[in-house]
Amino acid sequence: MSIAVARHTGLPFVPQPGPDELLGSWLLRVAQLYGLGLPTLLSRLGALQSDVTHLPHWFSIDVSTVRMDALSAATHLPRSYLAKMASSGCRPHWPEELGACEQCLMDKTDAGEPLMWNRNWMGPLATVCKIHGTWLTPVATRRLTSVRHAGAFGDAVQPVAAAPTLLDEEPARVGDALWLQALLLARTAVRLPWGRTRPSDLIRIVNAVAHELITVPTSALSAHCPSANCRAPAVRSFAFKSAAGQRAVTWLPTRLRQRQWLLARVAHVLRWAPGARTFQVSWSSASVSRLASTVGWPDGALAWVCPNAADLALRQDSLRREYGTSPSYFKARSALLASIQ
Ligand SMILES: [Zn+2]
Repeated sequence: MSIAVARHTGLPFVPQPGPDELLGSWLLRVAQLYGLGLPTLLSRLGALQSDVTHLPHWFSIDVSTVRMDALSAATHLPRSYLAKMASSGCRPHWPEELGACEQCLMDKTDAGEPLMWNRNWMGPLATVCKIHGTWLTPVATRRLTSVRHAGAFGDAVQPVAAAPTLLDEEPARVGDALWLQALLLARTAVRLPWGRTRPSDLIRIVNAVAHELITVPTSALSAHCPSANCRAPAVRSFAFKSAAGQRAVTWLPTRLRQRQWLLARVAHVLRWAPGARTFQVSWSSASVSRLASTVGWPDGALAWVCPNAADLALRQDSLRREYGTSPSYFKARSALLASIQ
């Protein structure tokens, strides 16, 4: 049977996608089965969107590049199922490093099963393997782009130069990071210690807390910088489609170990009451002031994250009621801010 015939009647056989397998990973396996490159396979199946002149990297393939109805007809898998396997994308670029679970890949190898790439690894917020509960291993995104067939997945996971050991010294943190990751992947409102929180609010809170934690130069974060003079990690904005289907934006380090370090601390602050935290945040007065100015957080969230900021916000409100926006207000507010130095 020629591929041209298969284009109309459907491929005679396709491997079953694995649990949570990324669409691009599965397509690479299908292409490998038929001895074709990925672009050739998609072209012969008539599954490329008409306006696509350049196929994106395998891990970025989604409904904007592939016609899901054509792919569904050719592979006998439901369109909605295929669409769910697709990458959620990351704009304007992917982080410098993504993650993969070496244990997941090893389990496949040990079982004599084909290697697959998990779609839960593909995003700036992915830090922990939810199956094994262990930190994901950094994978240079540029190395992923060089993967041309499914057999090369194992080679993509090479130790990143000078992989820091910091995280290994903090086994307890991985539980916090996993807890937050699960909440961030939820499609609906989730219950945080202060109450129900919508996905968009949770992202905003995570961004704000991460920003405050990262503005404090720490030896731990700078230890992962390639340059000895680098005092803070490279932080970029990443826009992606959240699990709830909304567009979300985060500002996070581009390197995985730094993201893991940071998100674990954000998770600890959100998960535990101030008195129960094993890692105590010493919020700077600038942080307290900025946090006190946040608006639209769910009730109780600010008091949980930083009681001093919640207290300052209340006192600022009280001053505003007393003085309006007169010079007296600004004078009193300056005195108030000075009192938290
Ligand atoms: Zn795993």
